Amino acid sequence: MTKGKRLIKKTCVIVLCISLCMAQFILFPSVNAYADEDTEEKDSSGTSSEIDDLKKQIEESKAAKEKANVTKSQLASGMADVQQVIGSLQTEKDNVVTYVATLDAAMEQIQDDLDAVNQSISENEIQIKEAEESIVVAEEAVEEAEQVRLEEYENIKKQVKFMYLAAKTTFLDILVTSSSMTDLLNRAHNISEIMDYDKEKLAKYAKAVEQADEAKAALEENKALLEEKQEELEEKQEEAQNKKDDMSLLISAKEAEIGEYNAAIGSKEEQVREYQQMIAQQDAEIAAIEAAIKQQQAALAEASRRVYGGGQFVWPAPGYTRISDDYGMRTHPTLGVKMMHNGVDMAAPSGSPILAAADGTVIAASYSGSMGNYIMIDHGSDIITVYMHASSLNVSAGQEVSAGDRIGSVGSTGRSTGPHLHFGVRKNGSYVNPWSYLK
Ligand SMILES: [Zn+2]
Repeated sequence: MTKGKRLIKKTCVIVLCISLCMAQFILFPSVNAYADEDTEEKDSSGTSSEIDDLKKQIEESKAAKEKANVTKSQLASGMADVQQVIGSLQTEKDNVVTYVATLDAAMEQIQDDLDAVNQSISENEIQIKEAEESIVVAEEAVEEAEQVRLEEYENIKKQVKFMYLAAKTTFLDILVTSSSMTDLLNRAHNISEIMDYDKEKLAKYAKAVEQADEAKAALEENKALLEEKQEELEEKQEEAQNKKDDMSLLISAKEAEIGEYNAAIGSKEEQVREYQQMIAQQDAEIAAIEAAIKQQQAALAEASRRVYGGGQFVWPAPGYTRISDDYGMRTHPTLGVKMMHNGVDMAAPSGSPILAAADGTVIAASYSGSMGNYIMIDHGSDIITVYMHASSLNVSAGQEVSAGDRIGSVGSTGRSTGPHLHFGVRKNGSYVNPWSYLK
């Protein structure tokens, strides 16, 4: 490598370094300003743009969560609406179910009536059959009686004819053969009696025929009544059957209605399940957002963690540089014993300003018997400044202050011999020499 090339390379490196340093200064001026002063600086804290980004992310996450919550409550309200619809459908369905129950009861009554009519019809049919059988029997009896009468009539006719033909000889016979007048009369009388007997017999047979006819007629009349009754019963049966058919139709229609209600309720319940799923999704989303917010807040807390940038403190008692009592072992002015003086006493008139030595958070602004009115400021990196014996305090705990902000006024409160500012510095929990930070 030639000397010229080496020079070019060296120049390049220097230019590159300067460029990097400048870039760093432009990008991170506050960090860079004290960077070489404090080797203990923690680099876990973020830049302001990182912090702003995180804050923005948290805002966005919170907005997303809010949106998810709104969506969730909209879904919940939609679901409640559907559930209300289900409730009214259920009520309407219950009404129809109740109505169908009354229809079923009515149907049972109709069926009972129909069964009773059918039973009556069966019984009546048997009676009609029996009547018909009786009529057949009666007809046979009539025929028989008629037959008997006809036969007898024929016999008598023959007998009368014979007697008539034989009458002359008979009478002659009787006259001739009769032993006496009485005998003659008796025998003539007998003939007449025979005639009467035949007459009587014919009348009796005629009567029998008449009675058989009457019995048959009575049976026919009874059958006619039964048939009339049958017609009435059949009318009733038809009526009951019609009622039953109508009722069946009505019940079928109502059952179809119930089916429709069930289908509607089923579909609404499906909607509810869909809502529940969507709400569960929203819940999951909200939970995820909350987890993200937690993470982002943790990241923000980490990024925002105050880090003492190092560098020289602002002189906390401006214009008053006389040290009335320095840091270190000394005889205590009021107690008279050798002890450690853990700060620097700056002599200053009462009421003169006390300034914050560096940027920080006020962690105490209070009063104690020994420190009087005192202030403690946390500057990060475990560095805390302490200001004692103030006549008044201008800040309160939790307040953010910048270097040079007036935080109180010099005084002589607490264990003090005259107006001064006792200024102490604590690092990692112990007092250290303030001069390390003041020069
Ligand atoms: Zn002191």
